[in-house]
Amino acid sequence: MKSFHIITFGCQMNEHDSERIAGILEGLGCASANADCADIIILNSCSIREKAEQKFFSELGRLKQLKASRPGLKIAVAGCIAQQEGAHILSRAPFVDMVFGPSDIAKLAEIIENTASSPVPVIDTQGDPEYHLKRLPTVRADKVKAWVSIMYGCDNFCTYCVVPYLRGRERSRPPLDIVKEVQDLVQQGYKEVTLLGQNVNSYGSGLEKKIDFPSLLTMVNDNTGMERIRFVTSHPRDLKERLIQAIRNLPRVCECLHLPVQSGADPILSAMNRRYTREDYLCKIKMLRDAVPDIVLTTDIIVGFPGETEHDFSMTMKLLEEVRFDGIFAFKYSRRPGTAALRLSGHVPENVKEGRLTHVLALQKAITLEHNKRHINTVQEILIDGYSKKGGRLCGRTRGNKVVNIEAPVNRVGHLANVRITAAGANSLAGQLCE
Ligand code: SAM
Ligand code: SF4
Repeated sequence: MKSFHIITFGCQMNEHDSERIAGILEGLGCASANADCADIIILNSCSIREKAEQKFFSELGRLKQLKASRPGLKIAVAGCIAQQEGAHILSRAPFVDMVFGPSDIAKLAEIIENTASSPVPVIDTQGDPEYHLKRLPTVRADKVKAWVSIMYGCDNFCTYCVVPYLRGRERSRPPLDIVKEVQDLVQQGYKEVTLLGQNVNSYGSGLEKKIDFPSLLTMVNDNTGMERIRFVTSHPRDLKERLIQAIRNLPRVCECLHLPVQSGADPILSAMNRRYTREDYLCKIKMLRDAVPDIVLTTDIIVGFPGETEHDFSMTMKLLEEVRFDGIFAFKYSRRPGTAALRLSGHVPENVKEGRLTHVLALQKAITLEHNKRHINTVQEILIDGYSKKGGRLCGRTRGNKVVNIEAPVNRVGHLANVRITAAGANSLAGQLCE
């Protein structure tokens, strides 16, 4: 096998898993190639919502023809749908050669070798109990910003979510492994790291030596030289004063936080098994803003969760108006196999979910624009990380993670620069270098 092509669906965890898959394949002497000429195509799938699953199966369908025209081509399915469906994928797509789960990536070389000698497709979704102790070779897509997993899995069992079933129980990586990986990234010239976990606030549970997430952040801040440190995702229930103080006091930790609220109505939060109330959440927002006044706050919202009434929905709209997040990700509730919410009564019709989503997005667009406009005429420290979508200009991010398109000489990628913000839209800012 000489070349590979990876198609990634879903979240940052999947993007980062694909970087590890690429690392292992390059280690085997394979080079990245276009789908038309690659020897192996890997689809790294996502099943967080039905739409993501549909996208994956339609892409898989397209590959059927490619495989028919090139029988030597190997097709692999990785990620959450691989874990969820296992061998069942073959009943929909018998042309698939291998299926492996998110915690089986370290076995990829072996899986490929077995496929070469096996008359039937190789399925490996057993997981690897030592996965969190391994550091896999990684080919990173970006040269300025990097992801580092600090933990895998999730123990929270929010009633709508498949993650705990597909990514397994929560396992934290040892802190020194994480610090070493970030040190190595600094050596390679990386300027920003995002520490990844489904609930970073419970980092450390299960590790031999007692450590919590604020202590890990302090270690990364003090011992690596990484310019900027970010992290996702924080569960509101586990957000404590110690983390707020870490964001406030650690100079390399950026002043922004993604804190998914999901709903503004207590009966829905309870049915979701989020284990905090609207008041708890608002109290934590106040603590954050008291300690770090300029903090950039973002959230996730699910509309149309089973049993969500018009009143419940209005409580979510009110919460958005009250908190005035800088940005949100909003989703229509999607039924997921095996989750507890499937069995709840009061499933909301699709057209009602659609209407609620439209309302939420319209309200938030106005709030985001208002926040962004406040940046005009301020000077922001920007990490320049590439080129703007429309081309011609450089692009970077503020410490609050806002996108800024910049008029600047091309040689500034990978540099921090002070930029005066001259214009603001709902999706991005524009600015000019101060020097
Ligand atoms: N662990 C993170 C958390 O607790 O927020 C992220 C989990 S998930 C990858 C990202 C977002 O997807 C969730 O915050 C939630 O808003 C959304 N989500 C998860 N399951 C969903 C479902 N069944 N329907 C709609 N949205 C869902
Ligand atoms: Fe899913 Fe909840 Fe775990 Fe996030 S915290 S991954 S939403 S179960």
